[in-house]
Formats: sequence, C-alpha cells, structure tokens
Amino acid sequence: MDGKKKSIDVPIEALMLASDYEVDSAERPRSPYPFDSQSDASAAAAAAAAADPHAAASGHRRQGSDYDNAPPPPYESVDPLALATEHGLELNAAVLVEEPRNHQPQQGFLRWCGSFHNEAIAGVDCEMTPFDSVSASAIRRACPDAPTDSSISFVQLNRVRLDPRFRETRSPAPDLTPSQRFGHKTCEIVDGDCKPVAHEHWGKLVGPSRGIQGHHNSCYLDATLFAMFTTVSVFDGVLNRKRNKKKDIPEYEEIQKCLKLNIVNCLREHQFVRADHVIKLREQLDKLGKVPGMLGEEKDPEEFINLLLDHALKHDPYIKLSSNQACHVLQLFVDSSQYDLKLPDTETLLHLTLLQAGLKLTQTPSCLVLQTPRSGKDYKLFDRVVPSTELDISNLLTEHPRQCCVCGKLAELECHDCFLQFQEASKDYTFCKKCFDNNKDHKNPKAQHKTVGIKYPKQVTKKYGKDKPVECPVKMKLFAVVCIHTSHYVCFLRLCQPDNRPAKWLFFDSMADRSGLESGYNIPEVTDAGDIDSWLNGSKLKDSSVQPPPEVKRLLSDCYLCFYSNEEAAMYR
Ligand SMILES: [Zn+2]
Ligand SMILES: [Zn+2]
Repeated sequence: MDGKKKSIDVPIEALMLASDYEVDSAERPRSPYPFDSQSDASAAAAAAAAADPHAAASGHRRQGSDYDNAPPPPYESVDPLALATEHGLELNAAVLVEEPRNHQPQQGFLRWCGSFHNEAIAGVDCEMTPFDSVSASAIRRACPDAPTDSSISFVQLNRVRLDPRFRETRSPAPDLTPSQRFGHKTCEIVDGDCKPVAHEHWGKLVGPSRGIQGHHNSCYLDATLFAMFTTVSVFDGVLNRKRNKKKDIPEYEEIQKCLKLNIVNCLREHQFVRADHVIKLREQLDKLGKVPGMLGEEKDPEEFINLLLDHALKHDPYIKLSSNQACHVLQLFVDSSQYDLKLPDTETLLHLTLLQAGLKLTQTPSCLVLQTPRSGKDYKLFDRVVPSTELDISNLLTEHPRQCCVCGKLAELECHDCFLQFQEASKDYTFCKKCFDNNKDHKNPKAQHKTVGIKYPKQVTKKYGKDKPVECPVKMKLFAVVCIHTSHYVCFLRLCQPDNRPAKWLFFDSMADRSGLESGYNIPEVTDAGDIDSWLNGSKLKDSSVQPPPEVKRLLSDCYLCFYSNEEAAMYR
C-alpha cells in the first residue's frame, strides 16, 4: 500500500436509495431509452465512426459489411412508435428475434424502430448479436435517431415478435376465473400467522409450480418477495404492526393484509402464490400514485422495497447510519481506483463503501440488504461480485469494541491506508497504538499513513482496558440474492443447515416455463442449485483451472441485491 491520498468524497446521498419519490424515478439510470440523447446528430455520427465492439466481441456472422463503405442513403424519417404498433409491437417490450436454421430465438428488448433502404428495421437489446444483423454503424450513419448503445443490434423488423412469457393477456374476458387465467393449481388465502419454511424442509420448496407465479413484468417483485419472506422472519415486523391512525396512510391495512394473507402466508403454507394475488398487491400499490406503472411496467427491486416498506407500510428503516440517515437498502458505492479489486466480495465492498464515506452503522441491523455497484442491467462497476456468505461488521459499528488486527487487543486507531493489506477487508485496518507504531509501513516516513482515532463508550474502555483480548465479532448471514440477467430478475435462496452441514442453495424463477401462448400463463419453478458455499468460501474461484458450475457463474455475474440477517438483533427488535 503506498501512501497516496485516497479520495473519500463519496457523496452520502449516493449511498442511499431515494426513499422519497420526489425524485423523478425516470431520471435514474435505467434502460437505454432510444430518444434520450440521440437528438444530437454529431454524437450519433461520432458513435457511428467508432468501432462496434458488441459485434466484434460476438463471433456472429454479419451481413451488413456491404453497407459499411457505401454512402448513407437519404434519411427516411419515421415515427418509431407508429412503426412498432404497425407490426403489433411496443417499444421497450420484451421480444424474441427469430434466428435462422432451427436456432433458438434470441430474447431481448425492442428499443428502436426505423427505416433503412426502404426496409423496416428494429433496434433490439440482446445479450448476443443475432445472426444476419444489419451493420450497426451503417444504420447509425443513416439514422441519426438510432440508439448508440453497444448492446443494441439491428435486424429486420419482421423477425421480431413479442415474447409470450411477458405478454399481457390484453383484455381478459371479465368472466374468466383466476384458475382459468392462471392454471388449475389452487391457492386459497391463509389467515393468521404462518412460520417461514424451516431450513431443513427445503425439499418442500423444490419443483415446478413452486414459488410466486410471474405475470406481465412482475419478476422484479416475485424475486424480491420470495427472497424476503420464504425462509426467514426478519421482515415479519412489517406484516404485524398495527396501524397508527395519525401516521399511517388510509390504505395501510388493506396493503398489509394483502401482503400477509395473499402472498406471504400462501408462500409459506402452499409454497405457491398464484399470479392474481400479486396482481392485487400491484393494483393497491399502483393506486397510491407514488410510482407510476406499478401495474404493468418492470421496476427495480429496490424501488419496490422502498415503496412497500417506506411509503406504504412506513417500517422503521433497517439500516441506521452515523450521519443520522436511515434506509432499507444500502447501495455499495466505491472508488476502487486505489485497490486491485478483480473479484471483490460484498464484505470488502461494504467496508470500503462506509470507510470512504466516513460512515458507520449505529446499530446492528436485523436485516441488511446490499445493492451491488451496478445499475440494473445497463451498468456494472465489476464484472463479477462474490456475495460473501457471512459479513463481519464488528468494525463498522459505532459503539462496538474492536480488535487490533495484529495483537487482538482493543484497537485505538483506524488506518484507511492499510485497508486490504492482508486481503481480509473486515479486519485489517484497526490497530492499538503499539502495533500501529511497530508496523513497517508506519515507520516508513514516505508512507505517511493517516489515522482516525476510535472513540468508545466508557463501558467498553473500562471492560477491555489495554490488555484484554477482544473477541465478540458481530456477523450477518447471507440468506438470499436477487439476480438480474437481460432485464429478468430471479432469486437464489441460501438455507443454513443444522449440524454444520453445507448450506442448501435453491434457485427460483417466476417465469421458468409457460403453458399456452398469448392466453396462457407462466409456470414458476424452484430448483436445487447444489453446493454453492464451497465456491464462495475459500480459494476455488481464484483457481482459473477449474470452471465453476453455471449456477455459480450466474450468481457472480448477475447478483444485484444481497440479503443478510442477524438473528440476535431480530430478536431484540
Ligand atoms: Zn495491537
Ligand atoms: Zn497504515
């Protein structure tokens, strides 16, 4: 570690997710909407001049090279909305792009429509470039309003159709019963209090038609509710608090009842929630008028958590910061320029986030939801993040006794310049005075490590004095991870097992399968995801000669929200 000054000017606001919706949610970085910045023709031209990295990266054959050297055809101005409608499509809808020769259609999102050489062209946001795509640079040269995002490919519009999994039954006949609309699996409402599914009974959860049935862009909500309520009770306070007539909104009881009886209890008793129960909750949240489009549009999970817990049910925030701010979800936000973080874990990122912002937690949270440094599917600070199975937060608590990382006695100083020197982020930056002075980096006058003194309450200094070893770590356990992959949210559950057996991992997708097409319904599914702990703990991931299984790869590259709990803190609150 050299002695360079680190930037710690991370704005505190950046850590917090807007818990009040005065901020227009549309301003937050979301999907690259084609008309945001494309009006600037020079920007489009500059982008067109640049290489097309997406195309280069995917080894797919492309047809458009003929167009590349030709002068651009005259710009044929068309209304993208009208063109989409004409083809039975909607902008930003989930679509399938037909692939030739019996290949699986590609999933994606329709971002743009236009005309090129008298042909209707679609700009589709896909994971891989489809076969026979039209040259992106040629399109961008010809159509100034074409999106410049490198993940967009251009194909003939007639190859694009709506993805039936996400297709709303446009106007269901009013006399259809829920079982006619969503399948014959019954889902009676359950009264009273239901306990979460016990960790050793994980087998009950596995199978098709398990979990929450997805319907029309609901996956962000299905995955989040499944994470929060299936196997843990840390959020149950939300289900049981009586309405406070002065503080709570009039709809409080209606929303709380729907969440508890229609969703949480069904999940715990039947291990299945039919889509109409989730539609009911969405309708109630939509009526509040706080977040537009709750009924049909895809939202971010953290937006949903804040709307439900903060605005609708006014739950006391789980995370309390030393700046007197509080939140339900903590956004990890780091300046990683000083560190070699190739494969960071959430524990390192949490410590770094709070350290750089000069913040601490004022109490052990019963539940800690961390959002990885990314914005939906559009932006990732790191290609992969390892969800730590355990977080040691001892050094992040304001009043907690802390251990010197060298001798184990009561620490008196924090040295941020020493952070990560032993590759053990949660521990290696606290020192007693003696060990601080003896450290070789601290003896080196060029290094100039700056320290921050640690202030303890009197009872802590009295108890430990200078000689007693400090051993009382505060840890949070991982119990769920919500992942995002091409705008589709899914959830991993982690269930600790008795007798030190390895934790069980389950994978949930609310739209895993589909019965019927347009008028059909989705079939949710929970599958056994195998032993993931052995990959997350230890050094297997650093060994490039062994390939992790697909579940582990997906978890690392797609993890978005990581849910942690501390049972002791939950008991006392
Ligand atoms: Zn020491
Ligand atoms: Zn130091």
